[in-house]
Amino acid sequence: MSSVTTRDAPIFPEPDLNLVSAKEPVIGRIVSNDSCLRGKSASFVRHTVIDISGTPLEGHCRVGQAFGVVPPGDDEHGKPHKVRLYSLACPTSGEDGDGKQISTTTKRVIAEGGSDADDDHRLFLGVCSNFLCDLGPGDEVRLSGPNGKRLLLPTDPATHDYLFVATGTGIAPFRGMLLELLAGTTGPVSSQIHLIMGAPYTTDLIYDDLFSRLSAEHDNFHYHTAISREARPNGGAGLYVHDYLGERMEEFGALLEREHTLVYACGLAGMQCGLFKVMAEHSLAEAYFEPKEALACRPPCDWELGAIRRGVRLTDRCLVEVY
Ligand code: NAP
Repeated sequence: MSSVTTRDAPIFPEPDLNLVSAKEPVIGRIVSNDSCLRGKSASFVRHTVIDISGTPLEGHCRVGQAFGVVPPGDDEHGKPHKVRLYSLACPTSGEDGDGKQISTTTKRVIAEGGSDADDDHRLFLGVCSNFLCDLGPGDEVRLSGPNGKRLLLPTDPATHDYLFVATGTGIAPFRGMLLELLAGTTGPVSSQIHLIMGAPYTTDLIYDDLFSRLSAEHDNFHYHTAISREARPNGGAGLYVHDYLGERMEEFGALLEREHTLVYACGLAGMQCGLFKVMAEHSLAEAYFEPKEALACRPPCDWELGAIRRGVRLTDRCLVEVY
């Protein structure tokens, strides 16, 4: 999707790219690999910290970028496994403040049916996610990167307000950005910062202790959670991130109307659909995305994901990475 320039447009940095190729990866070492879920859950998600000191990646990974992991072994065709990209979960200065340690948010992929056959219900284990989650301190991991320049913070972060919307492990880049804005070398900024985090159950919330602490320490940071599979205290059904946004338009409308606000969304593809529909229904879309003709002539309630992905142009105040 191409982007268009709006008033109060942010300026984004030019990050380093592909300093290490996946064909000739460098060796990093695991520093720690601890669960980052709030409670006991059917999912397994770890905060994986990797030492990259002495490699060309050291000091060159920018918040919002990704890096490559090349898992060991061969695929079902006898070819070496291909590289997988993982979002950085740390600020530009890394986990250690010196750019020598990077981190990511790793969720074990555990599913049924690895093939396209409808009746395939055999256990499928994601190769790279399970490799990474198994690792412990001192273990080696083959790395490449850095990758990506679509989901960056602006060069002058203090001149913007922010709405971050994440589902599941889509939170990874926002952990790094929040640390950058509130505790990093550029922070703390006094911008208004809202995070809406979506998870199936309260126990699945990722980095909940960190975000709760940051919101207690910084009056300008507001941490919201949208839990999809639990009834709410008022008896209402669970809700998705965009339902949460839509229900609180009195609060979020003012934020989205401000000319310097940036919207970031990362996670499941479906969230983009819900988010854009809610924004359009409240006449708040214009500054963030432009529906092309085929979509513009239909009411937002009729928009579906495929049409949105094909039919909108993001402005430079809207940064989306969904899968
Ligand atoms: P998850 O835990 O399965 O889901 C998180 C929440 O999103 C759940 O509450 C889920 O609700 C809800 N949800 C499902 N469909 C939705 C929709 N259409 N709109 C809004 N919310 C919806 O998430 P996950 O397994 O961690 O998956 C995260 C995704 O983020 C993966 O696809 C991953 O590839 C992607 N990701 C992207 C990046 C990146 O782009 N840089 C980085 C990390 C992760 P229910 O399950 O109750 O329906």
